[in-house]
Amino acid sequence: MLCITAGGLSAQDINKIISKEYVDNLIKTLSSDDMQGRGTFTPGIDKAASFIEKEFKTIGLKPLPGATGFRQTFYKYQITPATSEVSLNGKAVDAANVVISGNTAENLKFDNTNGDGFYRMNPDKGFMEQYRGIANAKKQMVVLVDPKFSDTFNRLKGAFGRGSIADEKDLQQTKPAALVFILTTDTAASQFSVSATNKIAKLPLFNVAGVIPGKSKAKELVVFSGHYDHLGITKPVGQDSIANGADDDASGTTAMIALAKYYKKLNNSERTLIFVAFTAEEIGGFGARYFSEQLNPDEVVAMFNIEMIGKESKFGKNTAFITGYEKSDFGKILQKNLQGTPFTFHPDPYPQQNLFYRSDNATLAALGVPAHTISTDQIDSDKLYHSVKDEYSSLDTENILSTIKAIAKSAISIVKGTDTPTRIPKLAK
Ligand SMILES: [Zn+2]
Repeated sequence: MLCITAGGLSAQDINKIISKEYVDNLIKTLSSDDMQGRGTFTPGIDKAASFIEKEFKTIGLKPLPGATGFRQTFYKYQITPATSEVSLNGKAVDAANVVISGNTAENLKFDNTNGDGFYRMNPDKGFMEQYRGIANAKKQMVVLVDPKFSDTFNRLKGAFGRGSIADEKDLQQTKPAALVFILTTDTAASQFSVSATNKIAKLPLFNVAGVIPGKSKAKELVVFSGHYDHLGITKPVGQDSIANGADDDASGTTAMIALAKYYKKLNNSERTLIFVAFTAEEIGGFGARYFSEQLNPDEVVAMFNIEMIGKESKFGKNTAFITGYEKSDFGKILQKNLQGTPFTFHPDPYPQQNLFYRSDNATLAALGVPAHTISTDQIDSDKLYHSVKDEYSSLDTENILSTIKAIAKSAISIVKGTDTPTRIPKLAK
């Protein structure tokens, strides 16, 4: 039974609203084998979206203004390499030794008479420094890779061999960029021809978003988010091939839903609160980007993005870190609201990992929004990260619960409209 006072709920009810059973059920369901690892463009993510929609409905959230439901659907083109025929000096190259990056054309054809020539990877220099020099050159080029780099070549094959995601405008380019990497000892070749095809499919993606309209400052938005997609079915390890993504990021999605439940019950948000589960984070952050483009970033007062809170942080129990801590006073406001509790927020201890720009807060942050990611993951030593072992059984539910409750309490002055974090300097376009 809930204890409702005139001003809403008293603070101790947080343990009833964000209960262990509630949180456990969310995270277990999202990370169950039934959801097949929630891979973007798979039936598993559709199931996960339906589950989140159902939770939003039960909580009593409203759809985004102008929307009829919680799904925010948009489309992308999935590009899957189909065939490739490549020859050097008139001799066919084994397809196992070819990988093409950047190609969005259904039919790609060029040779040494109309392409942008060769790039010969110097085996005495680092692969990556040479790669960075040509990656964004927007050229149609053949890159000859010495067998010394075969490990790196195989990694490229893993990354580009599966294909890519594109927009309409990428498909309309008359001369799409394409780097054709060839693993070969024939680094002196002078002629080439390339002919490759892609299978292109237009497929839906969907964020799931719900709103609690603000009472007196409805035009000021506060966003709570977590990405609900994960890697789907991956290479089997033993009998297991489902990357359940319990920590990454069923834990953050769970937090976002539990916070929606809490603030709806609290019923005192002066600002408008948006709760969103992002799709396609793992394949390039497409969900967060689309979502951000539908809003006016100047109206977004703060964004709480939650990523991987399933295991204790390096600072110990009752701690979490905030990426980009020093870029605004968001973290200081949160910490101020936690005075008298055992919980503390810390600056990101892994600045070299570039986490601030690696998660879904990055798009809005680049537009000036104090948009930060809250996490407890020990990313530098997390052996389960992006493995089939990132399962519910590996999680510390107490850590998840304490982190969600800390976020709930620490955000309260931003939700009520009494604190406004400083803006982050906009990134030049
Ligand atoms: Zn991930």
